[in-house]
Amino acid sequence: MIDPRLRQITELLTLKADGMYGLSAVNQRQHALQASQLAQDSGCPDSLVAASLLHDIGHLVHELGDNPAEAGIDDQHEERGHQFLTAWFGPEVTEPVRLHVAAKRYLCATEADYFAKLSKDSVVSLSLQGGPMSAEEVAAFDALAQSADAVQLRRFDEQAKVKNRETQPVQHFLPAVARCLRPLN
Ligand code: FE
Repeated sequence: MIDPRLRQITELLTLKADGMYGLSAVNQRQHALQASQLAQDSGCPDSLVAASLLHDIGHLVHELGDNPAEAGIDDQHEERGHQFLTAWFGPEVTEPVRLHVAAKRYLCATEADYFAKLSKDSVVSLSLQGGPMSAEEVAAFDALAQSADAVQLRRFDEQAKVKNRETQPVQHFLPAVARCLRPLN
């Protein structure tokens, strides 16, 4: 029998993820699949493949509509996603999810050309999320255990908005997700 947590993840990604991903040309499911495909193709560990697949699950568990940023609302999806996932996965999955928005603010502060590479929706949401990090925030971020994975996830996130790019289906990534699940008591 399939683990009920895997079933719920599958349902969210197959049934609830038809909404467009911000202002981009892909829907939430295509975005999640492109991100996890990039992680897998780069040889990342299961935890980062799972985190990439699930990083925007916080967008799918609220009812604020497809693009709240356009209406000036920060949906805080990284916190929602972390909350949703934390009973099921350890910090190697949940921390990159929680930190992937902070990682954008980090990269805008630490890489001269990063801001110029952001998609339109990422620029819109950046100001709602607090803009580039200050030097103190950069130092605090660097000190976090999963900061490097969060930055890597953020890079996949930004690259995962390509119209009509072929990926494996949701089911393909479930074994990697399953290997990261906490044991069911
Ligand atoms: Fe994303």
